[in-house]
Parts: sequence; structure tokens; C-alpha cells
Amino acid sequence: MEKTFVVEHLDPELGPWSTLEYACIARESHARGARFLLSSVPAELQMPADLAATKGLEVEQRSVEEIFADRKDKVCLLDPSAQTELSPQDGDHFEVFLFGGILGDDPPRDRTSELRKKGYVGRRLGPKQMTTDTAVRVTRMVVHEKVPLEEIPYVDYPELQINEHERTEMPFRYVKDAEEKPIMPDGMVALINKDADKSLDDLF
Ligand code: SAM
Repeated sequence: MEKTFVVEHLDPELGPWSTLEYACIARESHARGARFLLSSVPAELQMPADLAATKGLEVEQRSVEEIFADRKDKVCLLDPSAQTELSPQDGDHFEVFLFGGILGDDPPRDRTSELRKKGYVGRRLGPKQMTTDTAVRVTRMVVHEKVPLEEIPYVDYPELQINEHERTEMPFRYVKDAEEKPIMPDGMVALINKDADKSLDDLF
């Protein structure tokens, strides 16, 4: 059964960080036969051209509530505060996996609550905050590839070398690749390096 991954865009703007994350989710979903919907995108929002041209991206002005009004019980909200962890069996029941299109923050401000209030069944991806693209990647591995959450290789709070003298710690959990490196969207390390003078908070 084809799964739909929905990111409900909850910020008024769409900055460079979110742009790279959404493009990454679109490319990976497209390559793996999953559908990716970016919902609640305001009509007046100017989509960056590179993102708009990314294969696999479907943009919707409607909210997740409107789009899936007739299938609410098939929607699973990935929620850092949920009581139950996501399991491969959840892939047999749920058809739509919903994520907050929110930038990570440290400490987390629980903006996922905006979606929780709508009454969707929630599942957690472990105790650590992930970036949105990581949360989608992990969910896909669990429900498509049937890998249990605890068997996925992770890197927590990796340090990035910003320049010769500076390193910065990313306050998130990432999936580890074959070279033991955190998987990040194309262009993310360059974006962080370029904005090294700004604080990470400004970037998010
Ligand atoms: N600080 C955030 C908040 O205010 O809720 C977390 C935002 S996180 C960067 C973006 C989205 O990824 C969340 O809305 C959620 O859907 C998903 N997510 C991230 N980490 C998660 C976890 N450990 N369990 C479940 N979902 C997670």
C-alpha cells in the first residue's frame, strides 16, 4: 500500500533551512515510491525555485484536516510527546504519516501540539528530537522497510567543523550512513558554514 508522508507547514515563512529539508524529503520519497505532500502552504508564499522544481514535491494550500477529512483514523501524527513508539506494524494500519513543518529548537517548544490538538493518533520516534527530514526518514524505514526503531543506527548531537577553530553541536538525532556520518540534506553543511557568524537560532 502506498504511504503518504505529509509535512504540515506551520511557519509563516519558508527559510533556507526548511527549503533544504523539504527538498531532501521530496527526493527521497520520490526515489522510494512514497508520496510527499507539503500541506498548508499559504497562497502568497513564494516557493524557492529550486524547491518548486524538485521531483516528488506536491504542494497543497489545504490543511491536512481538509485533505484527509474522510480518513482521519488512517492518519498517524509523529509526535515527540506520544506515549507509544512507532512500530513496523503501524505500517499495516496507517496510510498517512503526519509531521510538523517546524524548525527544530533547543530546548524544544512543543509546536507539534498544534497538530496534536486536532486529535490524531500519535506515535513517538524515541526520546530525542529529530530534524523533520530525519523524522520522515526514520518513519519510512520503520513502516516501509519494517526496521524496528531501536535497530536504526543513529548519531546523537553530532559536532560539525565550522572552520579551523570552531565546531558546533547540532542538538538533534540523525540517522547514521555507511561511513558513520549523520545523514543531512544536500547543502545543509554548506548553509551552516556560510552562516557561521549567525547563531544556530537565527538559522533555524
Ligand atoms: N521542537 C519541535 C516541536 O516544537 O515540537 C520538534 C519539531 S521537529 C524538528 C519536527 C517534526 O518532526 C515534529 O513536529 C514531529 O512530527 C517530528 N519529530 C521529530 N522528532 C520526533 C520524535 N522523537 N518523535 C516523534 N516525532 C518527531
